[in-house]
Amino acid sequence: MYKTIEDEVLRKSAPAKLKAEFLQHEFDRLRSFCVLIYIASIAIWIAYDLILSFIGGQPFTWLSLVFIGAFATFVIVLRLIRDARHFQTLNLLFVFAMAFGTRLLTEGLPDDHQPGWLLLAASTTLFTASVLPLNRWSFFAAQIVTWSFLNPFYNTDLGHMELRGVMAISYSAFICGLTIYSFLTLRKAKLYNFIMSKLLLDQAYIDTLTEIPNRRSFMTRANQHLNKVPRENDHYLAMVDIDNFKKVNDVHGHDIGDEVLKRIAQDIKSVMTRHEYARLGGEEFAVYLAGARREDAEALAAELCQVVREQATRYPVTISIGLARVLDGDTLNQALVKADEALYEAKHTGKDRYTFHQ
Ligand code: GH3
Ligand code: MG
Ligand code: MG
Repeated sequence: MYKTIEDEVLRKSAPAKLKAEFLQHEFDRLRSFCVLIYIASIAIWIAYDLILSFIGGQPFTWLSLVFIGAFATFVIVLRLIRDARHFQTLNLLFVFAMAFGTRLLTEGLPDDHQPGWLLLAASTTLFTASVLPLNRWSFFAAQIVTWSFLNPFYNTDLGHMELRGVMAISYSAFICGLTIYSFLTLRKAKLYNFIMSKLLLDQAYIDTLTEIPNRRSFMTRANQHLNKVPRENDHYLAMVDIDNFKKVNDVHGHDIGDEVLKRIAQDIKSVMTRHEYARLGGEEFAVYLAGARREDAEALAAELCQVVREQATRYPVTISIGLARVLDGDTLNQALVKADEALYEAKHTGKDRYTFHQ
């Protein structure tokens, strides 16, 4: 089954919106990893700067302090940003600063050591970029920036046609190809995993007929609200049931019954937007109103009854609502029982109304 759905998903290309969502999701999960990578890169840069100063006889200049200041700023900004798109730009600037700083460091080395260290620095930068949550443009831009600053032929004694030069070209081509290939392949695999999990989660938590959250989703979210302490305001639970729905099915057929269910779901969605609503099953719905006042809960219940009643449609129906206050210490099931009792009351006092649990 997984394989069948997966084949179906892999056949379509992911829309841009989904890709953006994936990138954000990746960034959210890997933000601390990114911070760690930045700090490790900075630490190694400072270590080499100190080695060059103390053993290599290069003075530790104000320029080193400028770079360290800039690097520290990057880490602070990285910790502050929340949007994955901002990270794409930030990372490019970081690669720019790091590659430039590394170039300056290698210029303090003996001439014949420079090309080798430039190549090492370039391959480390490219490998690191290939595992960060980057989109394509940002990754390829990082490649260009890296090779612009860490080109082992620029300003060194390395010639293109000599042995060391040919070896450097071959290695650069290899590392370029390897990092591009692994970046694209891993990104695609992770993107499809993301799409698959999203699809399966949607199927597990969204009601297929009405496309609003289902019972499983409701139980999870309502329990989250229920268990949150301290409660800032009261919580209420509403059970919604369509009146005489069996008759709709009997008179107009099951398909029209389904249409009515979808319409009621949309009415609940529009009136209860700010709360947790779901189809519990059959023609029963529930709404969890967290942080509401009693008069707000009652007003919303009355509004919902009115919206359903006054809907301009060929198949008019009405609904009954049972409303209960969720007391401290109530479990969700206890609250549902109370709301159900109130619903029973509404059904037995004429329907098309809400009743508050006494
Ligand atoms: P009451 O006013 O007392 O609620 O009366 P009712 O007719 O709504 O009574 P009841 O709750 O017993 O009827 C529920 C009906 O809902 C029975 C079943 O055929 C129908 N039903 C349940 N699920 C679906 C569904 O997915 N689609 C359709 N079309 N009908 C459904
Ligand atoms: Mg019912
Ligand atoms: Mg009913």
